[in-house]
Amino acid sequence: MKQGKAYTGIDSFRIAAAILIVTIHTSPLSTYSETGDFILTRIVARLAVPFFFMTSGFFLISGFRENGDRLHGFLKKMLGLYLAAILFYLPLNLYNGYFGQEHLLPNLIKDLCLDGTLYHLWYLPAAMLGAFLSWHLVGRLGFGGGFGAALLLYLLGLLGDSYFGLTESLPPLKAGYDSLFEVMDYTRNGLFFAPVFFVMGGFLREREESLTLQKSIVGFVLSFACLFGEGMLLHGLEWQRHDSMYLFLLPCSYFLFGILLHFRGPGKKGLRRTALFLYIIHPMVIVAVRLFAKLLGLQELLIENSLGHFLSVAFLSAAGAAALSRGYGCLADKRRVRANTGRDRAWVEIHRDNLLHNARKLQEAMPDGCRLMAVVKAEGYGHGLFGIATCLNRGGVRDFAVATIDEAIRLRRFGIRGEILILGYTHPARAGELHKFNLTQTLIDYEYARALNRRRVSVKTQLKVDTGMHRLGFDAGDVQKAVRAFSMRYLNICGVFTHLCVSDSGREQDVRFTRGQEERFRGFLEGLTAEGIKLPPVHLQSSYGLLNYPEFSGDYVRAGIALYGALGSPGDCTGLQLDLRPVLSLKARVILVREVGRGESVGYDRAFVADRDSRIAVLSVGYGDGVPRNLSRGAGEVLIEGRRAPIVGNICMDQLSVDVTGLPEIRVGMVATLIGRDGEEEITAAQVAGDGGSIANEILSRMGSRLNVVEI
Ligand SMILES: *Cc1c(COP(=O)(O)O)cnc(C)c1O
Repeated sequence: MKQGKAYTGIDSFRIAAAILIVTIHTSPLSTYSETGDFILTRIVARLAVPFFFMTSGFFLISGFRENGDRLHGFLKKMLGLYLAAILFYLPLNLYNGYFGQEHLLPNLIKDLCLDGTLYHLWYLPAAMLGAFLSWHLVGRLGFGGGFGAALLLYLLGLLGDSYFGLTESLPPLKAGYDSLFEVMDYTRNGLFFAPVFFVMGGFLREREESLTLQKSIVGFVLSFACLFGEGMLLHGLEWQRHDSMYLFLLPCSYFLFGILLHFRGPGKKGLRRTALFLYIIHPMVIVAVRLFAKLLGLQELLIENSLGHFLSVAFLSAAGAAALSRGYGCLADKRRVRANTGRDRAWVEIHRDNLLHNARKLQEAMPDGCRLMAVVKAEGYGHGLFGIATCLNRGGVRDFAVATIDEAIRLRRFGIRGEILILGYTHPARAGELHKFNLTQTLIDYEYARALNRRRVSVKTQLKVDTGMHRLGFDAGDVQKAVRAFSMRYLNICGVFTHLCVSDSGREQDVRFTRGQEERFRGFLEGLTAEGIKLPPVHLQSSYGLLNYPEFSGDYVRAGIALYGALGSPGDCTGLQLDLRPVLSLKARVILVREVGRGESVGYDRAFVADRDSRIAVLSVGYGDGVPRNLSRGAGEVLIEGRRAPIVGNICMDQLSVDVTGLPEIRVGMVATLIGRDGEEEITAAQVAGDGGSIANEILSRMGSRLNVVEI
């Protein structure tokens, strides 16, 4: 992510929230005003824990899902923390006689799973259970259904918490809750309390742009006023068995989070860790402050005066947490450098900012009312289907095109909403899947349309017209067949399109041909209209079409290569010059540097023979990763430390060698750039393609399978 765009507001508020939790456990105002203390610790401070749940949900719960890795990662981290915290507090458990209690085993299990082995530790199992439940609820039911289910749990929890007075007045309900409280001490736990906040956090991540600062502030002020009234009322009625859960805590937390989202700046990872440590250690600090106060005879100031007590605990906890965080940060940095996640051998780097930038530039260049259809076939042109599609969908792109039904189904499984057009062939026997996943199938000719219609499953389709490419499509000269397709009962035709086959060329005869294609397309559409058919959206542009013929109108532009910023060289005879930036870089490590004497050879076929004493660097990438073998024998080069080094000998499946004789600074472990920028130098996908006798589309689309994808 770009510097300056991290969620500074959220990171900073973590500290405030942790301090609010300290107030709950120290009651700062109790010496001065009971009511004041109730308002601070039982109403205001109750915003803290939901905020933490929402924050975890924000980064974790998503409608876009690839696999459970992220959930497992979160659970593992929390579990590690929980175990460490349990050990940390074991001396306190021993001291307060926890292990001497009756029914130790069932109580221990109950505490481990729900209530925490020490009072504030309930948060950690609650975060785990909340994450697990909301992940699966949103996965199964989407955000709407997931929120509904989580809300129901929350309402059930309310009746055992702040609204318990109501429950007590209804005997059957009371009996139910009495048995519930046999297995848990409170309902503010991972089952009833946490999930709804996790779901709301995830929801906000995907609808971030819809909540303006103004709306958030107004929403927060109003709902806080209600929360305040609710808290005071329930307190007055003496309904509260416990006071963690309020109805208005939901909107209040939602809008508070909305406000914080608007404060963006540099990331503050240190604050995140500090807040967490503060939360974990402050009860221990309370014990320590009591001990020291006794030893130093300062009870009056540090214990009996509530404010003095709070301030000393808060200050010492914050200082301790900051020190711990710093120590942990150093360790983690060292580990990260050693592990070099995903960048140990060969990898592609995906610059998401550039992807969104390109999408915006293309949208600006398109005529009014025309929409961007992002072409993400072949693993997003080798950029990684999941990352590309979810990034664009989050960025507001609603229309996608792929080549095969299996790519389309994967998109749906990732959680992509909106239209998905399959540009290529799908066997008619799979009509059921087209229907089930709400996909749009291209009708590649009349016979195909009939075969699909015979399946008797209604499917969304688009009719493709052949205007001269002679690959797929209905014959542009035969409107009648298309008219018949429009009357087929099971084919819901919601688009008509054609494809230009030389729109990238500026040669006069190619321009004439392309204009001819456009005219045939218009003629075909007029033919349909003349037959009384109401035209659905129509389109004919792909990347070069838009750039060279911006005057062609249409309802969509199907952009592939331009979206990835991998057009040919900048001056590449496009009429429209857009500032499009490369999304992908291809990198590999230098794994070995060797001296090769004059007359010795390198690699298969002895294709390179040194004509001087040479230094050869071996890179851990080969044609098995998608590097074209045609770049062998000096046809291609790479960048290392901002310098160019030619490829020597034949490229192997898993390695290639470069000549670094003139570059004595090159060492094992350095990063070589095969596509992308290094210092002042740049190698574009188009150059690589040109050197290898191909086009960027081919080079990129073959890059998917073995390379790690690192998103930045
Ligand atoms: C691949 C493809 C596109 C995208 O082409 P680019 O030149 O990469 O923009 C558009 N339309 C159809 C039919 C395609 O097959």
